[in-house]
Amino acid sequence: MGYGDALMGAGLARGAKASGVRVAFGDGRRIIWDQHSPEIFKRNPNIAAPGDERAGDLRWVNYYKGNRIYNQQDASQQRWIWNLDWRPIPGEVFFSTLELQRAGQVGDDFVVIEPNVPWWKSVAPNKDWGKAKYQAVADRLKARGLRVVQFVNPKSNIRLRGVETRLSASFRDGLAMLKRAKLFIGPEGGMHHGAAAVGVPAVVLFGGFIPPSVTGYDDHANLTGGAEACGRYTPCDHCREAMAAIGVEEVVGAALARL
Ligand SMILES: [Zn+2]
Repeated sequence: MGYGDALMGAGLARGAKASGVRVAFGDGRRIIWDQHSPEIFKRNPNIAAPGDERAGDLRWVNYYKGNRIYNQQDASQQRWIWNLDWRPIPGEVFFSTLELQRAGQVGDDFVVIEPNVPWWKSVAPNKDWGKAKYQAVADRLKARGLRVVQFVNPKSNIRLRGVETRLSASFRDGLAMLKRAKLFIGPEGGMHHGAAAVGVPAVVLFGGFIPPSVTGYDDHANLTGGAEACGRYTPCDHCREAMAAIGVEEVVGAALARL
């Protein structure tokens, strides 16, 4: 993962400052951040940054790239073994006034649909619900008079027809806009963690890769197609069938129930 990991980290750190500490993610000697940490942890008073190792207010948490607690790699089977005791706490993102102002241009009262998955990752096919079905959901919601928006960036291979698009210059900018939405619909991944962090209801296409009990949030609709999660991060027939088992009506129904 990536952004999702950082957002779950922000969840772990919730409330730290109020109890007089800052969370140091690392091994007890060194604070270990990855390439997504600075963007997500920016302005977060609960989290200590690399370089703060000698500060007196640290609470060390052994959560960093290579040691994510919620999973363990089983390389011989090309899969993750999930820690079924893990529950994510919604993260937090501390936006600046300027970021919130800029995001305000998107307006209010809209639904965000994200049909893309990280296409460059081997797990992508297992998280992909399919362009045609996302398009059908967008069309149904529009037919009910709802405003449907897709955030796009250069990696957005799938662009839905007939929806509004907004350029998301960074993931963080996307979250600032998402904060104004009334619903998110999309795959299990960074944006669904983002929806939880900015307090937006969501319909999340999990399929068969990862159990909703491990990375899902209770107030989201987490759809699995009835599959038990396999954890395989290479293309998997079981995951394809799980996604195929999730129907357009099921997603539209879950969406309308949250609007
Ligand atoms: Zn599978």
